[in-house]
Amino acid sequence: MNTCSAPLDILITGGTLLTMSPAMKVVEDPVLGIRDGKILFVEDAHSPLAALYAPRERIDARGCIILPGLVNTHTHAPMVCFRGIADDLPLMRWLNDYIFPLERRYVTRPFVRAGTLLAAAEMIRSGTTTFCDGYFYESTVAETAREAGLRIVAGMGIFDRDFRRDDAEQIAKHVEAARRYLERWLGASELVTPALFCHAPYTCSPGTLKAVREVADAHGVFLITHLSETRDEIGIIAEAFGRTPARHLEALGVLNERTIAVHCNWLDDEEIAILARHDVKVSHNVESNMKLATGMAPVVKMKRQGVTVGLGTDGCASNNDHDLIGEMGTAARLHKILAMDPSEMDARTVLRMATIEGARALGLDGITGSLEKGKAADIIIVDTAKPRLRPLYNPYSQLVYAATGDDVKTVIIAGRTVMRDGRLLTIDEEGAIEAVERIADRIRSDNGISIPYLQEAERC
Ligand SMILES: [Zn+2]
Repeated sequence: MNTCSAPLDILITGGTLLTMSPAMKVVEDPVLGIRDGKILFVEDAHSPLAALYAPRERIDARGCIILPGLVNTHTHAPMVCFRGIADDLPLMRWLNDYIFPLERRYVTRPFVRAGTLLAAAEMIRSGTTTFCDGYFYESTVAETAREAGLRIVAGMGIFDRDFRRDDAEQIAKHVEAARRYLERWLGASELVTPALFCHAPYTCSPGTLKAVREVADAHGVFLITHLSETRDEIGIIAEAFGRTPARHLEALGVLNERTIAVHCNWLDDEEIAILARHDVKVSHNVESNMKLATGMAPVVKMKRQGVTVGLGTDGCASNNDHDLIGEMGTAARLHKILAMDPSEMDARTVLRMATIEGARALGLDGITGSLEKGKAADIIIVDTAKPRLRPLYNPYSQLVYAATGDDVKTVIIAGRTVMRDGRLLTIDEEGAIEAVERIADRIRSDNGISIPYLQEAERC
């Protein structure tokens, strides 16, 4: 065989490769070539292709599992700065007494940058290569994620002072800000897909929801919203508008195939059919929902009705981490006990939700979520040479039921190696931790903010 040395950026060899393709093909002892950010070939070791190329970088993945980078369909990355600040509280008290006041006092552009950088380090370390975010100063989130080399769907956050009444001046401001934001980001970076994030039906007025939907449609982008997270929300929306939150959004014309509904814990059967009919995508945030005891999404029913469901972590004030591998294990186990059926949410199904189904939920399944020729080289390598991960009979089982985010060894996004053998290459990790610690010091020493743990400590 002629080694004609055609250029290749990276060649990965050895290990077990899960393509997560429609046929769920698994390649033992693979060769995977990357050029110009894309997968040039995925073959087995007998293929003559690898010998034709001269790679600039070789990665030996013997003893490892190679799979598509994970897709986190929902978080608020900068909220890592509030990790563990107020736990064990019901959602509305948690939001109104802690999170909203903290956000009003501390969230600035530097806060958002520091938080996003730490979140990016955490996500890369645990195998996430794409995440969908929604927060304030979202351009800064997008810029920071891009610098770290992460793929992001960046949702510009939108709230109203009073969700019950339309405020024409406020709506005009939202529309103007949304247009400017989308014009800045559409086509600006291969890694950044802009979107609009209306926080919830109980924080955005009907007029705002309709106007933002129109802007999103005019630009062909997604509208993201929390939906039906708590039982309280059902009562609040019913009292204000005489219908459930999902029916409210349908009546406003907000639901279509470019909608991501986050949580969806309290949907009745007819509302599931509404979401299916409009091809609404759902982000399931199992650990956040468990921790805040907000309810549990009828994921099995939704999937049976053909709804696309991806996994999300939610922000780190309510989870409290960005480890999507841990999220997979929790989702698989929780839905089995809810159904009293251990065959529900099997390991392959859950891994699909964290990869290709998550990518589909974000409209990125043509780009990422599986390892196939022509797709972006978003790849993670999990080291199985550990007591916890031996023996290895079934790689799907190992990833969902035994692995943790710490087992991820190497991460490649759009053909760029962002972590190699456990070392981050795009982020100054120590600096990222220090910047967030400085923010935490300010919050701790602020007399205006009562942190439950510190108050308890004082009492002792
Ligand atoms: Zn959220």
